[in-house]
Formats: sequence, structure tokens, C-alpha cells
Amino acid sequence: MPSSQATTHTEKASPDFQGFVPHDQLLNCIHCGLCTSSCPTYLVTGNENDSPRGRIHLMRGVEENRIELNERVRGHLDLCLDCRSCETACPSGVEYGQLIEKFRLSDRQKQLQETGKGLNWFERFFLRDLFPHRRKLERVLWPARLLQITNLDWLIEKTGLIKLLPMPLQRMQRMLPRLQRDQPKLPRTLPAKGTQKSRVGLFLGCVADVMFRHVHWACARVLQEAGCEVVVPTDQQCCGAMEYHTGQTESATHRALANVDAFGDQLVDVVLVNVAGCGAMLKEYTHLEKAGHANSEDVNRLNRFAGKVRDITEYLAELDLAPPQGELPIRVVYQDACHLKHAQQIDQAPRELLRKIPGLEIMEILEPNICCGAAGSYNLQQPEMSDELGNRKINHILEKSPDAIVSANAGCALQLMALLKQRGKNIPVFHPVELFDASQRKVPWEELRCR
Ligand code: SF4
Ligand code: SF4
Repeated sequence: MPSSQATTHTEKASPDFQGFVPHDQLLNCIHCGLCTSSCPTYLVTGNENDSPRGRIHLMRGVEENRIELNERVRGHLDLCLDCRSCETACPSGVEYGQLIEKFRLSDRQKQLQETGKGLNWFERFFLRDLFPHRRKLERVLWPARLLQITNLDWLIEKTGLIKLLPMPLQRMQRMLPRLQRDQPKLPRTLPAKGTQKSRVGLFLGCVADVMFRHVHWACARVLQEAGCEVVVPTDQQCCGAMEYHTGQTESATHRALANVDAFGDQLVDVVLVNVAGCGAMLKEYTHLEKAGHANSEDVNRLNRFAGKVRDITEYLAELDLAPPQGELPIRVVYQDACHLKHAQQIDQAPRELLRKIPGLEIMEILEPNICCGAAGSYNLQQPEMSDELGNRKINHILEKSPDAIVSANAGCALQLMALLKQRGKNIPVFHPVELFDASQRKVPWEELRCR
């Protein structure tokens, strides 16, 4: 065809997606199908449209204006966990996470323009107005803490009163872990023990700081022992992932820049994160450039900051710590969090840390690459698939009869704890650094398991 008559991609592409969803990434997929067996939703439904290859085909069809984005197509795309297991499996380097995230953002904007409807009630009240705000969340959890202390939470469940709540609230109540005694806030700085080797920033997050502050304390102690001065900026904020994933790119960018300021002012060598989901978001602040709410100087600052972010296990592996002395004679299952294994490509560092603990044995499970169904707020928004995957994971774990489960992601820990509770299993879930810290402090297992 003469070039003057050829239709270019730009001419035929859908204006809602073109330019935002990276077309070259869509073309990178050679449809080999090597990713399908690593896709959790495909394993459950067996439907090609619920596989990475099928979803890329659908996104490309919509982007090229060949497929109508109706509810059926949207359903297949919404069912994706964005776990990025397919990225690890893909030999062609398709960055699937970027594709689905950009596609969803474009779709949200399109729907907003067409219907005037932005977030649904759950996204507005919880994902936007509650979860990212530490103080608010702390206040809201007080009644839940009280119910737990008085055992009334059990009564609400047993009498069926819980069924009066809307489904996402019922699930939130069931997912709420046994809240630990009120932990003090971390101070602004914690000095290094012995000769100071580095100055590190510790990222607290939102939900993690309210429900897993004991993990922050464990990380701080291990870092101090390793000769790090630990800086905890008070004006740091949530990583912005919940806002980013619900299409609120402007507030996500503002939050990211607030974090850049908070840590930038402290002149830290690295910024350390103990929640895989937050770590992946912080490392990918570079993606916010495309959202268009940051000027070129902001973009440079976001890029510099992202380059300093490390998962805590990644950093501790670099420090090559001496083995701790306290014996922990236990058999544990280490559960790979998708946002650590697939999004950050970290799977050995947490295992190396655990292997240093005297007496501890790590057991590997079937399908270690497959998501546990937590996936941020997925477990609240896609309850059926989330339960299916969660139970599949728990079955693999229980086959090993472990003394404890170890996970480096707060979301996975919550999901696993809730499913264990449902099955009446009293198996504790720890962060890898918690166990390392306990061994360093020679806390006996009998005491640790009842914390
Ligand atoms: S995403 Fe990668 S592995 Fe999957 S079909 Fe495309 S090229 Fe193959
Ligand atoms: S991100 Fe996860 S759920 Fe989505 S297509 Fe890839 S492997 Fe499947």
C-alpha cells in the first residue's frame, strides 16, 4: 500500500487509551503463552481471557479500536490481581504491570468523563479517605481494639450481627488481625550501636504503621545493631499506591513529592521499606511522570528518591550481617509476596536472612510464585477469586505443617492470618526481620509465638 494511503496507528487508535497505554509494550507480546501457567486467575478459571496473553490481546484490541470495552471485557481485566507473576515468566520482557495499570487509569478517566462517576463509596471512604491517613486509621481502630479486648468481636461474629454490615465491611472485620498492645511511636532518630556505618531512613506506611508497628521496631533494632543510624521522618506519608491504583494520580503525585521532601531533608543514604507493596510503589515513583502532575524538576527528584529505595531484606543482605545467636528451633514456610518477588525481583534476600537464624528450617511450598489473593484492596473488591487463591495458598502451606509462616508484606500477612483464623489454625505469621531480631535478642520461641 502506498504510504500516503496507509492508516497509521495514531489515526486508528482509541483516543481514550492511545498515548497513555504504551503501544510498544502491547506489541512486545509475541503471544507465546509461556506466562499462562504462572497466572493465578488463569489457573482458577482456565479461561484464556483471564490469562496475561488474553488480557494483552483485549487491551490491544481496545487500544486499537477493534474491541469494544464493555462490561464483559472489563470483567476479565478487573479480575487481574496485578501480581506481575507473568512479568517474571515472560521471556520477551513485557512489562505487564505498566500495561494494566495505565489501562485502568485511562479507563477510569474515560468512565469519569462519560458518566460523571469517579470512585465508588468503598473507594471514596476507605481507599481515599481512611487507609492512607495514619492518624484517622488509628482513631477508627480504637473501637475494634476495644471489641477485641472485651471479646465482643467474637460475639458479633457468632450472633450473626456482622451480617448486617455491607460485604466489604464484613470482610474487613474478618481480616482484622489480633491488634497488638499499643506500641509507642518510633522516635525521629535511633542511634547506631558501635561505629556508625550509615544513615538510613525508615518508611512507615499507613496501614502497616497502625497494625504492624512492632515490625518497624524490629527493623529499627536490627539496623541499629548493624551500625546504622535510623531516621524516621515525622512528615512522611502513605506511599500513594491506593490513590494511584484508583486513578487519583494528582493526589498520589502530591503524596510522593511529600515523601521525597520528608526523606530528602534528612540526607539519608537509603530509604528502607518493610512492606513489599509500598516498596514497589516507592521504587516506581518514576511512573508518576506520565501522570502529568509533576514538573521536570519534580520528576528528577522523584527519580533520585526512587533510586534510594530498598526493601529492608535487600539492604540487610548487602550488609552481610553476622548470624544472630538465639536459637529458634522451628520449621517455617516463607511466603513470597508478589510485590517483592515479581515487582522487585527479590526472593533470596529474605531467605538468606532466615537461614542465618540457628535452628530455623525453611520449607518450600507448591506454587510459590502464585499470589495469595491479597493484592492490595483486591481481597475486598474481588472476594470470590481472592478466597479461592487464599485457600489454595493456605492448603499448600498446611501440607507442610509449619510452626510459623513468614511474609515480607503486610497485605499477605493479613490475608493469611484471616484464613488461618477461619480454619481454626493457630499458626503465627511473622516478618522475616522480626524473627532475625528475636534471635538477636535471644527471645525464646515459646514467648515469641504468644506475642
Ligand atoms: S506476555 Fe510474554 S510470556 Fe506472555 S504471551 Fe506475551 S510474550 Fe509470551
Ligand atoms: S498480573 Fe497476575 S493476575 Fe494479572 S495477568 Fe499477570 S499473572 Fe495474571
